[in-house]
Amino acid sequence: MGPMSTAEATIALLKDLIRNGCVNDLTPDSGNEARNADTLEAFFAGAPGVRVQRFEPHPGRVSIAFTIDGTDPDAEPLTLLGHTDVVPVDEAKWTRDPFGAEEVDGRIYGRGATDMLYITAAMAAAVRDVAESGTRPRGTLTFVGCADEEARGGLGAGWLAEHAADAFSWRNCLSEEGGSHLPVADGSDALVVVVGEKGAGQRRLTVHGDAGHGSTPHARDLAVAKIAEVARRVAAIEPAVTRDEPWPGYVRAFKFDPDTERQLLEGTSYEALGPLARYSHAMSHLTISPTVLRAGGAINVLPSTAWLELDIRPLPGQTQEDIDALLVDALGDLAPEVTITHLITEDATISPTSGPLYDAIVDTYAEFSPDAAVVPPIAAGGSDLRFARRKGGVGYGFALHRREQTLGSVLEELHSHDEHVEIADVELTARAYRSLVRRFVGA
Ligand SMILES: [Zn+2]
Repeated sequence: MGPMSTAEATIALLKDLIRNGCVNDLTPDSGNEARNADTLEAFFAGAPGVRVQRFEPHPGRVSIAFTIDGTDPDAEPLTLLGHTDVVPVDEAKWTRDPFGAEEVDGRIYGRGATDMLYITAAMAAAVRDVAESGTRPRGTLTFVGCADEEARGGLGAGWLAEHAADAFSWRNCLSEEGGSHLPVADGSDALVVVVGEKGAGQRRLTVHGDAGHGSTPHARDLAVAKIAEVARRVAAIEPAVTRDEPWPGYVRAFKFDPDTERQLLEGTSYEALGPLARYSHAMSHLTISPTVLRAGGAINVLPSTAWLELDIRPLPGQTQEDIDALLVDALGDLAPEVTITHLITEDATISPTSGPLYDAIVDTYAEFSPDAAVVPPIAAGGSDLRFARRKGGVGYGFALHRREQTLGSVLEELHSHDEHVEIADVELTARAYRSLVRRFVGA
């Protein structure tokens, strides 16, 4: 019996990772990524020349790194960051077992199939493949199965970046998602490589009012009325469309007619982008979403405080001070009565569209899709790559899908009911990782 191909190994591993069901519900005791770490350790068992490091900052929250040391200390290292946790499921809305990894009509169903276990599996298979080739790479190659990405990495990549920063290199990193196609107006092909991600500027806006009996509201300062006005003023904020790359390049990649292109560049209409409208709006603006509103408890008591929480996502270059200034300006005469508290704050991060790793991605895409343009957008949400970028490294979202798999269709799978991945895309991503890894570290 010959060895399994990289693609076959990837599919088998993907199914095991789904079945382990490492569900991260944002609480420290959830996740239990130790199960996926054990599965990965078994996957690498017997692979020659692989160093294994386990990290467990909280019981069960295991991240695991597999490193093949390079022969040339001057060669560029490569680190593949694959998260092993998945988001919870609303089981009643699924028509398949969310943790069954069922194979139906050329698809594998399960929580995390797209986000991002198929990529994690492809990364592991590509690294094991190098180990088993018998030839050591020139550059040091590491694959990390990271816990806790879905809760912003505090017990995963974020913890590693802070407490085990020297365990592996952060200089050149790959992670989710990337490799889908843009529906270009003239029918030509364009492939996405994710070069950055928006930041976080979470805020709580608190107001105070007069406490008292609900039966006697006359002449009282009502906290609920005030927070409602705060919410109205915040919802009316219309941040300006960005003029900075990658937005203009992303718009031009669609090759729309000049009128449509101008509307998009000016941010006046996103209609032409169809299912990509919402994502594209987020990519071109600071966004402010009111998500949590709290006041009162008992119906007969006037609450003395009320607050509104805002999920704010800044673009590269937009600071936390910019966000506060925008809020204060919108609150106007109410601003002195509103306390603005910073919750999670992280600046956006972006990597250059040049340099050795970016070039290797472009070359790999050219190998599989010679006619495709390469388009570098930023993600609206977060990934573990921001930790690499903050350390001065570069980070790109890399995978590879068949031509019919558009950016819109991939985004729709993330955190969805009946999440699935096409086996043909798993195979392509496995082949693309194998090719890129060998190209980059010289294996
Ligand atoms: Zn993910």
